[in-house]
Amino acid sequence: MRIAIIGAGLGGLLAGAILSKKHDITIYEKLPFIGGRFTNIEIDRFKLTTGALHMIPHGSRGFLAKALRLAGANVKIINSNPDGTFLINGKEYLYKELFSLLGVREKLKAIKLAADLKIGNFDKNMSFGEFLEDVDLALKVGNAFTGWALSLSAYDVKMEEIYEIAKNYHRYGGPGVPIGGCKAVIDELERIIKENNGKIIKEYEVKKVDIEDKVYVDGEEYDLAISNVSPKETEKIFNIKFLDKKIEEAKGIKISVATKRGLIKHSGVLFTPECERINGLNQVTNVDKNLAPEGWHLVMTHQAQITNNIKKEIDLGLEDIERLFKNIDYKILHIQSYRDGVPVNHVKSGIYINNKVNDKLFLVGDGAKGKGGIEVEGIAMGVLKVVNYIGY
Ligand code: FAD
Repeated sequence: MRIAIIGAGLGGLLAGAILSKKHDITIYEKLPFIGGRFTNIEIDRFKLTTGALHMIPHGSRGFLAKALRLAGANVKIINSNPDGTFLINGKEYLYKELFSLLGVREKLKAIKLAADLKIGNFDKNMSFGEFLEDVDLALKVGNAFTGWALSLSAYDVKMEEIYEIAKNYHRYGGPGVPIGGCKAVIDELERIIKENNGKIIKEYEVKKVDIEDKVYVDGEEYDLAISNVSPKETEKIFNIKFLDKKIEEAKGIKISVATKRGLIKHSGVLFTPECERINGLNQVTNVDKNLAPEGWHLVMTHQAQITNNIKKEIDLGLEDIERLFKNIDYKILHIQSYRDGVPVNHVKSGIYINNKVNDKLFLVGDGAKGKGGIEVEGIAMGVLKVVNYIGY
């Protein structure tokens, strides 16, 4: 089949690489580079990113790793150890150690919350924030997790989605870092697509696609199309209505920091439940030294965007950084905010959109993630569904 893919983000390239084994695929990308919000940008010889924090939520065991293997991509993902720690009162704790910080009554409540989450004993329309709010520390920890992983406050995520995320975490484990960062993934997908004679056309913004008995992109005929642009944009480009629910985005702010001494000792996430805004940070150079110039570490902080006053949100993040790096020299490399048009997620976690619009149009990307699929894991879940519908 001839397949047109609109957008060369992770979703479009992953689908393209798998489908190019059997089909004739053409990917249209409006920018001069591919990878969308999942590739590297170099600043002062540090390998920063267009979006993602060089982290794959379930590391080498998750959906993205599975889809990459299916595509034949050779990407080395190093699983974090530990998955993460929590900074409370200036000390780092593992998740299970957090219970020791609670008094007897709160500890009992927290143990019950953990058990209820595991067996699904809650109203699934309740928010994670409401579920946790009886135990102050649990709410702060939950909020740091959703802010870091989903760019949402705990009150913005439904228990239904948290339950699915928890199941995936128990099944596939915690995060990992791809050697070479996000771009290593994108380079491999590009290599496979080219080897299979697929085409990637850069600097080509698709404005209109007609679906009749065939699919037409500026007069070029295809059997079907895959859209890697947001569901709202897809409706416009394809002149079709399929969204039957209110779409909300997830917005966030990322600050990239250079430090010689380093701040984090491990390769996982340092969650910061007590910060004013920053939800967590990682130090990816603990896994891959080449993401920074020799003698330096790259630390990336992430915070959900809570209000629309971006300047104030950034200032609060910078104040957190000042406190976190108390006795450590650092310099700010780059501050990136992700909102209207280029958010962290086009559709926030917990809003489910079908990957199949009709027999000729499919959706991939973070607008159509699978249930419980954090970030690129959700994208890979959607891609796996789409390539199974189409056949590869
Ligand atoms: P996108 O990256 O949105 O790509 C879509 C492509 O389509 C773009 O290249 C765009 O230029 C192109 N396009 C748009 N319109 C057109 C058109 N009309 N014609 C042609 N081309 C078009 N995920 C993780 O798993 N781990 C993380 O650590 C992580 N951290 C994040 C931190 C931040 C700050 C951000 C912003 C995101 C983070 N994410 C993370 C999320 C992840 O980066 C994104 O969800 C993912 O990269 C989105 O991929 P996508 O396939 O939806 O495509």
